[in-house]
Amino acid sequence: MAPSETGPARRGVLLILSSPSGAGKSTLTRALLDTDKEITLSISATTRPKRASEADGVHYHFIRQREFEAMRDEGELLEWAEVHGNFYGTPRAPVEAALTVGRDVLFDIDWQGAQQICGAMRSDVATVFVLPPSAKELRSRLERRAEDSAEVIDRRLRNAAVEINHVGEYDYVVVNADFEDCLNRVRAILQAERIRRVRQPRLMADAAQLVKDLDAV
Ligand code: 5GP
Repeated sequence: MAPSETGPARRGVLLILSSPSGAGKSTLTRALLDTDKEITLSISATTRPKRASEADGVHYHFIRQREFEAMRDEGELLEWAEVHGNFYGTPRAPVEAALTVGRDVLFDIDWQGAQQICGAMRSDVATVFVLPPSAKELRSRLERRAEDSAEVIDRRLRNAAVEINHVGEYDYVVVNADFEDCLNRVRAILQAERIRRVRQPRLMADAAQLVKDLDAV
């Protein structure tokens, strides 16, 4: 069989979105997933308590610290980090399964996770940092969400500065001032990443065949 007929038509994109909490990344993530059927969300495991608006297995796999440590120690996590005093990690198996069949995976993870996944599989990854329009707007978004205590909000704001300090490590940066505009930019990044030459081995084989065919016409 010719190489162009084996394996998926293209390699999947591992699209990492990072931002401080409250920059609107979850809404962006949901909108992208609702309108693009080729990308699947990587559902993280976390030891953080579930919020009222969240469902187990949909937003996160909510697990106990002991279970988290077992997964980590068995090598079942592609990356993991402690964020705001809780543990978060990316289950490895679904990501590897998606890559095998050429599907894209969306990650809503912090800078520590982005660094680890880039370290392990850089050529499959595209990283996007989502900035809030201003510090004031970030605070009011966290307060409007009304799902966290004042203490948790303060901790998240302090952590925002740490997160934003890593913006220079990302491939792309977008500002979430106008939601639709921001979403369109992220969509454009995904479309462009999908057609990178390195992600299209079958097309490259077709191009080589085209060169041979041109000899014969
Ligand atoms: P939240 O508690 O608001 O859902 O998430 C807090 C932070 O943890 C966010 O910045 C989110 O991107 C990050 N996060 C969520 N899941 C993971 C994960 O699996 N790994 C890492 N490194 N960070 C995560």
